[in-house]
Amino acid sequence: MYFSEEHQLFRKSLKDFLKKEVVPHIEKWEKSGTIERFIWEKFGEMGYFGLAYPEEYGGLELDFFYTVILLEELQKINSGGFAAAIWAHTYLAMTHVNKEGSQDIKERYLVPSITGEKIGCLCVTEPFGGSDVAGMRSTAVRKEDHYILNGSKTFITNGVYCDYMVVAAKTDPVLGNKGISMFIVDKETPGVTVTKLDKLGWRASDTAEIAFDNVKIPVENLMGEEGKGFPYIMQHFSLERLLMGINAHARSEYALDYTLNYMNERKTFGKSLSTYQALRHKFADLFADMEMCRDYNYSVAYRLNKGEYVVKEATISKLKSTKIADEVAYQCLQFLGGFGYMEDYPMARLFRDSRLGPIGGGTSEILREILAKIVIDKKDYKPAT
Ligand SMILES: Cc1cc2nc3c(=O)[nH]c(=O)nc-3n(C[C@H](O)[C@H](O)[C@H](O)COP(=O)(O)OP(=O)(O)OC[C@H]3O[C@@H](n4cnc5c(N)ncnc54)[C@H](O)[C@@H]3O)c2cc1C
Repeated sequence: MYFSEEHQLFRKSLKDFLKKEVVPHIEKWEKSGTIERFIWEKFGEMGYFGLAYPEEYGGLELDFFYTVILLEELQKINSGGFAAAIWAHTYLAMTHVNKEGSQDIKERYLVPSITGEKIGCLCVTEPFGGSDVAGMRSTAVRKEDHYILNGSKTFITNGVYCDYMVVAAKTDPVLGNKGISMFIVDKETPGVTVTKLDKLGWRASDTAEIAFDNVKIPVENLMGEEGKGFPYIMQHFSLERLLMGINAHARSEYALDYTLNYMNERKTFGKSLSTYQALRHKFADLFADMEMCRDYNYSVAYRLNKGEYVVKEATISKLKSTKIADEVAYQCLQFLGGFGYMEDYPMARLFRDSRLGPIGGGTSEILREILAKIVIDKKDYKPAT
């Protein structure tokens, strides 16, 4: 219903590309926690970073279902970390650059982000609390033709190996969430220090704690209007949450496909696992949940593509799809028995990687609160731009 013949051809060529260029390196990147630069450049050459961005800056300006395909196929090579590195650059950092960046910023950062020459990250979360975005403590104080940035960020995807950072900081701390602004900061600017964090899953991606110590940022690197950072972040959360919902249904689909093949082949007591009613019914339930999420997510993607502000729908998408993905990961691992627990089989990594779904980009608790405000308090969220 949502995918044309062109979409399907794109899916096929992307699948072939991932199989040939990415899959052979995944084990190495999962172990080293580093994704080599050459693949970023290849993604750039193929146009994958530019799917959603204007032709003027080297993008392809395609409809949102090309992004859906990119996200789905990235999940299906089963490295949540590799996928996260790619989509955090393409849809977290670059969305801000494209929406709020000046012409000059777009030329300096969006163009090389599309070609894969520059990698970006988005720095919102702080060690003092990620859920309470308005409570952030980093500050950027204006001094003549520059700002002085101080503070720290944590859990930042691509924070170690990136070239630039999109950073939220308070330009007017007294104003609370109305005093937050967004800046572009080159990683090599004096006063920026990054520390790589070790983590349960997403192991191919680098995750950083970042300190800013009197970092001098030129005024031209302010993104959009001063004091508008909070509404910008909230607005783009809709996209991020839908992306994470789509990722979740895609990894569920991948896990169920893999597991069904396994269950058909694995025999116990002389019969395939897929013949046991206890397992068949569990599998059928999970399959139904995955399809409900997938079709819901496609309908939200359709509305986003038409320009609707899908804050409620994206909240539901992430809340439900990540919950189902965790159940699928847990149960598919169980269907594989001891092999499910082994690193040589895909379910161990998928189980680890999936666990971030209900945490990153707004926890399930925070999403429930947003939904409660919309549904019970009738709060009407409006886009910033
Ligand atoms: C691997 C990884 C990659 C990430 N990448 C990025 C990135 O690229 N950029 C970025 O900015 N951030 C990133 N994050 C941060 C992520 O978005 C935050 O971890 C998340 O928003 C939660 O914030 P917190 O970890 O500080 O938890 P806290 O805010 O401390 O919350 C702790 C717990 O309390 C619950 N809680 C908090 N407040 C309430 C409340 N009012 N009601 C009910 N429950 C509540 C939360 O749901 C959670 O369960 C990443 C995190 C991880 C782990």
